[in-house]
Amino acid sequence: MTEGSAALPLLQMALRVEQDIFVIRQRGREVAMVVGLEHQDQVRIATALSEVARDLLRTTAGADVSFHVDAGADGRFHLRADLAPMSPLPDGRYQPQSGAVSRLVDTLSVSTVEGVTVVRMSRRVPASAPTPTPERLAEFRTELGRTAPASALDELTTQNGQLIAALDEVRSQRDELAVLNEELAETNRGVLALYNQLTEELEETNRGVVALYAELDEKSAQLRAASESKSRFLANVSHELRAPVTAIIGLGRLLTDSASDPLTDEQGRQVELIRSSAADLLNLVNELLDLAKAESGRIEPDVVEVDLRPVFGQLRGTLRALATRPNVELVVEEPRGPAVLRTDEVLLGQVLRNLLHNGLKFTERGEVRLRASQHGDRWQFEVTDTGPGIAPELHDRIFEEFYQVPGATRVGGTGLGLPYARRLVTLLGGTLELTSAPGEGSTFTVSLPTGGA
Ligand code: ADP
Repeated sequence: MTEGSAALPLLQMALRVEQDIFVIRQRGREVAMVVGLEHQDQVRIATALSEVARDLLRTTAGADVSFHVDAGADGRFHLRADLAPMSPLPDGRYQPQSGAVSRLVDTLSVSTVEGVTVVRMSRRVPASAPTPTPERLAEFRTELGRTAPASALDELTTQNGQLIAALDEVRSQRDELAVLNEELAETNRGVLALYNQLTEELEETNRGVVALYAELDEKSAQLRAASESKSRFLANVSHELRAPVTAIIGLGRLLTDSASDPLTDEQGRQVELIRSSAADLLNLVNELLDLAKAESGRIEPDVVEVDLRPVFGQLRGTLRALATRPNVELVVEEPRGPAVLRTDEVLLGQVLRNLLHNGLKFTERGEVRLRASQHGDRWQFEVTDTGPGIAPELHDRIFEEFYQVPGATRVGGTGLGLPYARRLVTLLGGTLELTSAPGEGSTFTVSLPTGGA
């Protein structure tokens, strides 16, 4: 499309008297039809034209009207109508009498073209319409030039017809809307019912969960009470047992005392048996008492700065007496460099002694070794032995009270040492773990926080 042909209007008309409004309306619709606007859009732009024409006739005593087709910024074609007023617009602005006018077209504005102010409106030509090539525009011009403007009466009749059609359409749209509304109400009722049902189900589930929690709370309170009464029972019984057992040991010692009447060899052996059984019993009672105390939370760690070297020295000294097997070596490695952590010295000593004692009890040849090392903010104590090892499926069980690996009982013991050791380590804020397999020895690892529990 060349500049010249694009600038050339499709049609020009003058708006001077009332009747011209009808003509402009009618011709406007014809132009819209010729360029390919759909029926509804033809009526829309024609209506907008007659409204604007009426306004301009009143305010500016008329206008020169021209129709054009041009390509918009969106690459689509637009039908444009320019109405150049006969006298200046009041305040240089145009405000349509009816606010709905601007909704009938795509754009409605006041533009100044080459010094001339025009009221301009446009409506997009649908993509389905034939492309307005210069040749086609020329044809449009000819076609529009051929058709003569009809009379005001004709236009009124046409307008009436359009009005009736529009009313019909409004009515059918209103009916459709009523149907849609009914459907919507129906859907709403369904959604509401579903929502109510879901809410009920949710409340039901909630009530179930609440009841479950209450039951759980009750069960754990019962468990706590049972565990407390077990600890209390253990503590009481072992406390009550300690006095008579100590008496038996003391009496046994009296009987074998050189100041007492001499015993026959057989009597001496039997008294010795009584004494050693009583000593075993006292040991068991003491361990039970310790465990009961640890479980009832009656042990309060006394956390202070502990230097490991003297602790290790003491362990070496006290345990040497228990390392009686000629083929087993006890090695307590001297910690390298400064070895200080915050913990309870007595409890740590008990734990390590317990683990080393087990190692010595169960190892027939090789060594039992204690080494300590610092890893970040934790200290790790490893007690390793070359004993029989423990099958992985028993790793948890040996930490249960009174559990002893079958066959291991012949070396004595109560099955309380490891559960007690683990309790103490937990009290110190640490962990006690085991790595072991049958035939490969065992490693018990105690890990404690350097800064204390
Ligand atoms: P106790 O040593 O008095 O029997 P513990 O609770 O200390 O009780 O240990 C429980 C069981 O774990 C022991 O009876 C033994 O079967 C097994 N056990 C413990 N330490 C070792 C070890 N170092 N090597 C092999 N088995 C062990």
